[in-house]
Amino acid sequence: MVYIRLRTTTEEEVGEVQILLAEDDDGVAAALVEVLYDHGHVTRRVRYGRDVLTYHRSSDLLLLDLGLPDTDGLDVLRALRAVSDMSVVVLTARGDERSVVRGLRLGADDYLVKPVRLAELLARIDAVTRRRAARSVADSVVRTVRAGDVEVDLDARRVRVGGAEVELTAKEFAILAVLAGRAGTAVSREQLLDEVWGDASHTVSRSLDVHLTQMRAKLRRPELLTTIRGFGYRFGDDGS
Ligand code: CA
Repeated sequence: MVYIRLRTTTEEEVGEVQILLAEDDDGVAAALVEVLYDHGHVTRRVRYGRDVLTYHRSSDLLLLDLGLPDTDGLDVLRALRAVSDMSVVVLTARGDERSVVRGLRLGADDYLVKPVRLAELLARIDAVTRRRAARSVADSVVRTVRAGDVEVDLDARRVRVGGAEVELTAKEFAILAVLAGRAGTAVSREQLLDEVWGDASHTVSRSLDVHLTQMRAKLRRPELLTTIRGFGYRFGDDGS
């Protein structure tokens, strides 16, 4: 007798996920890399917290140990969240409630306490990845952002103010695209620097101010670009 297993959409596989694993224990890391590989995922393993900030851009999901040799994993998570909204699953021996709550508040998508059952880890990775994919499909539908009489077409890279086309430089548009893509939401300065320049260092920080000033002058709608002191910027009204 032949059994044919029908695959339903709910158990659809998420496909290959590029995973960044921050884990200082060689034995644990080797076992995880192997089981992730068997499940079709590609893993880059790093030992130090600082390496997370170097390699996060080429990965879809971070598997983060908290007890790392150079930095506490929660500090790594905080620094990462200033520049990236990639999926993060904390995987740690630290199971006290305070650490779990802190991890989730700092923006972890999920939090697993060691020793972890591997089947559960894989299921959680799939669930986080699926949620992320659903969210990015929803994001990609909105490609023209309107706030007041300003219209930003993110695909055609055109901006109209009161129906009239406004010429922005490539950098000015890149900055506006990051802000308009998250209209109504506060975007940190570090995140802007990282997404536009691929670098959140202070050397490009002054450059951001110059481009922002020029862009503001061209848009002539100061009320639509709010500066949030000590944090960053928001494009559009809260309700837009
Ligand atoms: Ca550790």
